[in-house]
Amino acid sequence: MPGRSISIILVILCAAPLLGKDIRIVTTTSDLKSIVEAVGGDHVSVNSIANGKQDPHFIEARPSYMIQLRKADLFIRIGLELERGWESLVLEGSRNRKIQIGSAGHLDVSSNIERLEVPVGEISRAMGDVHPLGNPHYWLDPYNGRKIALTIANTLGAMDPENAADYAANAAAFSRQIDMAMFGIPADESMWQQQLSGELVPTEAGWHALMAPHRGKKVVTYHRSWTYFLRRFGLVSAGELESKPGIAPSPGHLKDLIESMNDSDVPVLIVASFKSNKAPDLVATKTGVKVVKVPYSTHGNAAADTYIAMIDQVVRQVAAAFNSSEGD
Ligand SMILES: [Zn+2]
Repeated sequence: MPGRSISIILVILCAAPLLGKDIRIVTTTSDLKSIVEAVGGDHVSVNSIANGKQDPHFIEARPSYMIQLRKADLFIRIGLELERGWESLVLEGSRNRKIQIGSAGHLDVSSNIERLEVPVGEISRAMGDVHPLGNPHYWLDPYNGRKIALTIANTLGAMDPENAADYAANAAAFSRQIDMAMFGIPADESMWQQQLSGELVPTEAGWHALMAPHRGKKVVTYHRSWTYFLRRFGLVSAGELESKPGIAPSPGHLKDLIESMNDSDVPVLIVASFKSNKAPDLVATKTGVKVVKVPYSTHGNAAADTYIAMIDQVVRQVAAAFNSSEGD
């Protein structure tokens, strides 16, 4: 009896949102997914559009993402125009009014972040792919991971007041985990501030212990993705391989960069795992710089299976490259 089976299916479909009480969340990046999992626990189900091995500036707006978004209760983005090239396509394609920009189901977690590199004056195409609202790569500072968790907990608590205390407790536990990974001991806000300004003595363990000996050292990066990370650990940017933001390295720019790197001591070149080796290898051959290929999102490599594991990978790889450059 086809009529009957159709009505059974309809009953199941209609009842599904009531039975499964999960808040259905789609995030733009795998880091946001990892943090949502930590904060939302059993109360949410979450998918990410970018998988951690892709460049989040350039995601193809596939129909499968739009289908995923059609049923979402909440869409979460990094913002500051990181997703500018594809977000509006997948949102419009989803035809889900709940999650459009300006709706309650659209969350931009950059709202509580201290932005760096907000351009002053007019921006033109000639400047490359400049992010006009400031540098969006803020998730690479673990302190901002704590802030993202708090923003997500507040939003989930407002959507689902019954479980608000769970979300707040999970975000607090997540923050404590980051504190422990950073300092090896429980920490508070003031320790993060002292660490940022270089006043905190090296702790015995944690990311601060690994990176404190390298404060003030120079690094070159591929894209200008590492501003927040470098600032957090007191490292100094000595330029990028890209000739302008988002514009592939040109031979002329690389030549100038190699010259300036040979004039000053730049021990480390940080490259996101999904970037080509070509320009980094060339620069390494001409300067002797150590190239570190790091995940820059969760799942960017096999060991980076959570947000905290991703930061841990980056810190360990960069610290190891500095240490080995000292032996040269
Ligand atoms: Zn960028």
